[in-house]
Amino acid sequence: MVRAARQGRARAPLRLVSTTMHDGMPTPFDPSRPANKQDKLLFTPGPLTTSLTTKQAAMRDLGSRDIEFMTLIREVCDGILAVAGLKADTHVTVPVQGSGTYGVEATVCSAVSKQSGALLLVANGAYGLRIRDICARHGIACTTLEYKDCEPPNLSDIEKALAADGGKHTHVAVVHSETTSGIINDIEGVGGLARAFGRSLIVDAMSSFGGLPIDFERANIDFLVTSSNKCVEGIPGFSLVIARKTALARCKGVSDSLVLDLHAQRAALDAGGQFRFTPPTHSMLAFRQALRELEQEGGVLGRERRYRANQQTLQAGMRELGFELYLPPHLAGPIITSYVYPKDKNWSFDTFYNRLNDRGFVIYPGKVTMAEGFRMGHIGRLFPADTTALLAAVKEVCKDMKILGHH
Ligand SMILES: *Cc1c(COP(=O)(O)O)cnc(C)c1O
Repeated sequence: MVRAARQGRARAPLRLVSTTMHDGMPTPFDPSRPANKQDKLLFTPGPLTTSLTTKQAAMRDLGSRDIEFMTLIREVCDGILAVAGLKADTHVTVPVQGSGTYGVEATVCSAVSKQSGALLLVANGAYGLRIRDICARHGIACTTLEYKDCEPPNLSDIEKALAADGGKHTHVAVVHSETTSGIINDIEGVGGLARAFGRSLIVDAMSSFGGLPIDFERANIDFLVTSSNKCVEGIPGFSLVIARKTALARCKGVSDSLVLDLHAQRAALDAGGQFRFTPPTHSMLAFRQALRELEQEGGVLGRERRYRANQQTLQAGMRELGFELYLPPHLAGPIITSYVYPKDKNWSFDTFYNRLNDRGFVIYPGKVTMAEGFRMGHIGRLFPADTTALLAAVKEVCKDMKILGHH
């Protein structure tokens, strides 16, 4: 069985059987080609391509009560505040086991009381609407101002809603980089209104934190959620909530979930330096390394520069090949680019996807609310040269498929 599977794989252009640890020795770090050579490149919204050194940092077994692990938790929590440009006297990091959505759900159900609170949700894509689903599950009152995924939220709608609600909506929530389309929402505009009306702001900055600068003061953010495997480029395993200390203090006893309780999670870390349940030790080791690599790259601005270079390389090449952008360029951020399906009788997304996949490049389908389209990501350990290689593969596939006039 094993032999047959390996023979089957051996015919593929890329080797899927790992040779990294074949002789018990990790492959040495090669900065010119930082990902594992045998892995496909992930032009997706996550999981993402990560550096070899980040993955290697995870190859240790730490006990949760070990002083080394308790120090690691502190370094990760302090490191994320440093990336945010915040100080430990006003803000605190709450790590939450699980993917990014676990952090979003923990924040919403810990911050917004189902007895006495309500959420005004600003949504222009699938990740925004996921917050509505979270509220529905927990019986939290939620009013959604819903926009198309190619459309920015209208600030005057938000202002009217807050002016007319008699203080009902205690919290406002918005996604910063809506990964459905790649649109960047004006969190400073939304946060300014939340401040003017005395409401608390929750920002899902999952796919932007670490890759785009965020001014917590100007955007008046009380809670920001990100995850280990987006722009900081760690491996998946946990999410991180950056909370204003005064806002986190108001979360005591609010959550109706045992595990998804930000206040209880932070209280346990403060009391004994311990997670309440089995911690993601390996992912946290990798994340500490990822934070160091973020700093080496010049911090958030250095990383943004690389993502924008990836974006520009991709967009110039795709335009030349005849593909059309989904979003008007002034609304699009450097995290992910959406394309509409070509109007061509030979077009098939599945064929396009599979042939790129065979060549070692993974792209992403569109999300349900979007017009028919596909997405290509710029985040993760990818460089303009990787994007150029993707473009060469796209060109070959266009010829194979005889689409967009390529023969
Ligand atoms: C990736 C992402 C999430 C979290 O998704 P998970 O699959 O739970 O990690 C949430 N919001 C946005 C905007 C994202 O890009």
